Amino acid sequence: MTTERALHFRGGRIIDPLTKRDETGELLVVGECIQAIAYGGKVNAPSHAQVIDCGGAILCPGLIDPHVHLREPGGEAKETIATGTRSAAAGGFTTVCCMPNTNPCLDTAMAVRFVEGRAADAASARVFVVGAATVGRKGDQLAPMASMAHAGAVAFSDDGDGIASGGMMRRVLEVCKTLDRAFMQHCQDASLSEGGLINEGPVATRLGLLPWPRDAEEVMFERDLRLNTRIDARYHAQHLSSGGSARILREARARVGSDRAHRISGEAAPHHLLLTCDACDGYNTGAKMNPPLRTQWDINELKLAIADGTIDVLATDHAPHTIAEKARDFASAPFGIIGLECALALYAKALVEDGVIDWPRLIQLLTLAPARLCGLASRVDGIGTLTVGGVADLTLIDPENSWTIRADAFQSKSRNCPFDGWNVRAKPVMTVRAGEILFDATCATNPSQALRAHAPR
Ligand SMILES: [Zn+2]
Repeated sequence: MTTERALHFRGGRIIDPLTKRDETGELLVVGECIQAIAYGGKVNAPSHAQVIDCGGAILCPGLIDPHVHLREPGGEAKETIATGTRSAAAGGFTTVCCMPNTNPCLDTAMAVRFVEGRAADAASARVFVVGAATVGRKGDQLAPMASMAHAGAVAFSDDGDGIASGGMMRRVLEVCKTLDRAFMQHCQDASLSEGGLINEGPVATRLGLLPWPRDAEEVMFERDLRLNTRIDARYHAQHLSSGGSARILREARARVGSDRAHRISGEAAPHHLLLTCDACDGYNTGAKMNPPLRTQWDINELKLAIADGTIDVLATDHAPHTIAEKARDFASAPFGIIGLECALALYAKALVEDGVIDWPRLIQLLTLAPARLCGLASRVDGIGTLTVGGVADLTLIDPENSWTIRADAFQSKSRNCPFDGWNVRAKPVMTVRAGEILFDATCATNPSQALRAHAPR
């Protein structure tokens, strides 16, 4: 009989978003599960357990990103399931939900199973699939959503495009309601953003680039909320960029009342909280985003919405592109940036250091909230929480660790990160999935506490 692997975390600031506890203590992992948590005390660890001295670092559930692009199949020059999930683990994320805008598109049960199979073979972090709601994400024919849900799709989205037709949107919401899956909308009315490259305003005028008004996001968002009033599907607006959208979401949640508000949600991404369209100056394609970077007013409104609980999910919208693609001129370069390996530090900078929210709330928005959005607890017992008997998916975060973002050092295959060279604080120092250490920076930063050798994939 073999001895089960055990991890004994000591001296950690243990934060659990479910019970809302935030206390120094010890946590014991045996095999794949959390065996004991002792807030303010000690656990009874077996003698063979690997001791991990947290030194006051935050020990919390593994971070969950509900919005990444892993590019496989079809975009392997940008990212693969192997490299994208290694990038996730290095960024503190033990779970990611991948978007269906691959080539071919993830619009069949077979495609969902393909990604799940590749993830089982090659992934570090867990991968859940967000399936396309329409065939080829073209918006004119329903995808076989029931069979995709059966195959494992945790939510649906045509991300990359919004669903233009109101009639199709209504059907998609009805199917999502029946299947008990969230619909995640990329809010973009293409007729309003047509040709648009950056936020409508003085910067667009100065650079002579076609504008992308806030209306393109807000009009589709308002339409969807109107359509969903009767249907009451679980509706989620992705990567909100407009301050107006934050107000729309606040009003919509107030209308349905506090007990139903969780059925309408919105998500923010780090770049929309830290950069304005000024970053596009000099035709910098590194700041070319969909939806576009906007203004300080929008940043302020989005932060207000995070502070008051209107926006209650955070994501990265990790969108890898090759150096050659991003080196094209501004009009023809692709939209998007990578985010998995710096998102935590950037959120700490935008939200905690700025006094918008505290660490326990930030962790809730990065763990329990996305787990609930995607119904992940029905797949993995205890995911998104610290639960005795539940899965040991954990992230150890040093909130005071100052470091410089170096895109060259990323595990991701791509380098398109406008935060390269930024000095930040807060670093994920260890990532554990089902009791297995996926990523460990404690050896490098603190050799005196070198951990037992292990072999992350
Ligand atoms: Zn999108």
